[in-house]
Amino acid sequence: MSQDLAYAARLLLDAKRILVFTGAGISTESGIPDFRGTEGIWTKLSPEDFQLDRYLADSKVRIRAWATRFPKMFGNAEPNGAHTAVADLWNSGKLIGCVTQNIDGLHQAAGLPQEAIAELHGNGDGIACVQCGAPHEPKEIEQRWSDGDIDPHCDHCGGILKSTIVFFGEVLPHRELERANMWVEQADAVVSVGSSLSVYPAAYIPLEIASRGDTFIIINNSPTDLDSLASLRLDGMAGEILPQLVSAITA
Ligand code: NAD
Repeated sequence: MSQDLAYAARLLLDAKRILVFTGAGISTESGIPDFRGTEGIWTKLSPEDFQLDRYLADSKVRIRAWATRFPKMFGNAEPNGAHTAVADLWNSGKLIGCVTQNIDGLHQAAGLPQEAIAELHGNGDGIACVQCGAPHEPKEIEQRWSDGDIDPHCDHCGGILKSTIVFFGEVLPHRELERANMWVEQADAVVSVGSSLSVYPAAYIPLEIASRGDTFIIINNSPTDLDSLASLRLDGMAGEILPQLVSAITA
């Protein structure tokens, strides 16, 4: 084990309630691109198509959005060792909660229970009406879409349907934010995994814990916006580093 990893393990052994904060980088080893890399999502899709006001105003934007949603947004991506390590940390009793910016559902797929996750940017699995909020069964909407209904509307009120991913210009889901803030108050350490820590308000989660002097560990393969506040940076791949760190503190 490297000296840095051993030091990180010592810091976390002293902690009782660890919050894990994850970003797109925890899922790249599962084959899902992050936003800003050379293979990033924005090299293939236009961020403007994910602005709420444009989506609501323009059927062409919605038609493009549904074409990226179906047949399956993230293909057959499976959780990797980093997702499993977060679930292991939960099972050990040291994880207070995992706040994720991801919408891919891979934390749940790795066995982390929903009660342990706050999905700040929503989830790519759901579909709901923007007007009345009614949830819709994705399989049924996909069937309608394949049958030619390329801009599907709500069964109940005729409103516009949208994926439950949080779009730009949309407020963060209240319940998830509330839970994340409760964990922030209670945590005595935070580990950020695979995030550039550049998207707000999400980045306030680790920022707040670090600002009051609690342990703040960053695992990332490139510099982040909050490196100067970190107790320690572990530079490299999340799928290699996090499993080693978690087994060192739970063994
Ligand atoms: P980001 O793209 O800004 O940053 C990802 C960071 O992870 C980068 O610094 C990159 O160098 C690093 N990274 C990539 N692969 C890594 C690996 N294997 N190990 C360690 N580090 C790695 O992502 P972010 O900070 O999450 O930014 C925010 C936005 O991205 C969020 O709004 C989120 O909703 C969205 N997003 C989510 C997914 C997903 O659900 N998987 C995918 C793309 C974007």
